[in-house]
Amino acid sequence: MNDTLSSNRSSAHLTVGDTTKGGSVMSFYLPKGSNRPPQIDRGEGVYLYDRSGKRYFDATSGAVVSNLGHSNPRVVAAMKAQADRVTFAYPRFFESEGNVHLASRLTELAGDGFDRAFFVSGGSEANESAIKLARHYAVVTGQSARFKVIARDPSYHGSTMGALAVTGDSFTESIYAPMARIMPKIPAPLTYRLPAGQTESEYVAACAQALEDKILEEGQESVLAFILEPVGGLSSGAVVSPASYYRTIRQICDKYGVLLIHDEIMSGAGRTGAFLASHHWNGARPDIVTLAKGLAAGYTPFGAVLAPNRIVETVAERGGFVHGHTYFSNPFSCAVAASVLNEVVEQGLIERAATMGEYLDMKLRQLMSRSRLIGDVRGKGLLMAIEIVADKETKRQLPTELNAPAMLTEHGLRNGIALYNRRANRGQFGDIQLITPPLIVEPQQIDELVVALEKSLRGLETELRDRKYLD
Ligand code: PLP
Repeated sequence: MNDTLSSNRSSAHLTVGDTTKGGSVMSFYLPKGSNRPPQIDRGEGVYLYDRSGKRYFDATSGAVVSNLGHSNPRVVAAMKAQADRVTFAYPRFFESEGNVHLASRLTELAGDGFDRAFFVSGGSEANESAIKLARHYAVVTGQSARFKVIARDPSYHGSTMGALAVTGDSFTESIYAPMARIMPKIPAPLTYRLPAGQTESEYVAACAQALEDKILEEGQESVLAFILEPVGGLSSGAVVSPASYYRTIRQICDKYGVLLIHDEIMSGAGRTGAFLASHHWNGARPDIVTLAKGLAAGYTPFGAVLAPNRIVETVAERGGFVHGHTYFSNPFSCAVAASVLNEVVEQGLIERAATMGEYLDMKLRQLMSRSRLIGDVRGKGLLMAIEIVADKETKRQLPTELNAPAMLTEHGLRNGIALYNRRANRGQFGDIQLITPPLIVEPQQIDELVVALEKSLRGLETELRDRKYLD
């Protein structure tokens, strides 16, 4: 072993707060004295290996990114081939074959209503771009008064200032609100804990009606768009609503000339068992869709905005979209994403997400019946979540300051399972753990995942009992 390698290995034992210069990005997150996470060495299929050789099941595809699993040989070969040709050429000087090819494949898979694709480097950039495109369209069509983007509470649309302004998270708002123009919110239909006296369908209908009420309250001439995650991410825990909700939302947007934006950064690119989640419901098609995460599946940082001709050409004819980033639509990332998309289609992974999702749902429900900590299982396709509770009967949460999902992650790593969690709203809407394996997952690997998850939940239960949070 060479010196660099051995010194890197020993750095994995450092704790956050060591005064040596450098460290890792975790220095920004973990409290002083915390153990740093293991160092990644390599990935293969649904597994990741740290530098000591320990294997981890990538049970959440990182942050719901690695839809194709790791080290796909065809994608790796496409990356090399593109790197050998050209990695960067600015799109205003040169179009690239990858950009043209990808735009055509992607808009074909997205179907009617999505004619154009704008490529960026991630989810927050995609949402910023979508909101700015909507605003630019309003301005060039004589609707300059429209600027408000209504969103849901809770929700997550990214961490840049514009994306943060439409994100429903009281904690981030408590820090950054003075620097952003926080946008109006309506409740997301979280049906696990219903308001007293309301049935599920009454509550969901009221949540849809809240959009119309909010448009009228804000002044319909000032409302530009409504943005939502059609299948929730971490903030709501893979919440799926009945088809009637999506249709009503669509009708309300049409009635008031409000653009409907679906943030499919987590749910898109096949994860829910359809290329776009809106394909599951008739009459629910949005005007603009954003994608990222699974679109290039972690092989390159990537995101996209899909929009109709009607919007893109109107803006182009009036001088063009005043927006871009250095790496937008770069040849390397476009070629890599095109190769990921080819694999997804050729391996039938969209259909596979639906069938494996049903199997995972069944296994998680069985696990819920054995575990005192799982209060709910929900989701669509391979975008699933469990909700951790202190009491299944009353749905009472564990104390939020405990951060039960982070504790579960620790137990998971010990048991060879990597579970992504990121606190939304400081846990105010529930302790959620996404279960979102790569779309290539096999049934016996789902069994293996559930065994490791059960072991980790048992470990968490014992710890909670020892610390007197459970009897
Ligand atoms: N929107 C949703 C629904 C997400 O889940 C995320 C990331 O988790 C984002 C937007 C932001 O994407 P990124 O982290 O790539 O900027």
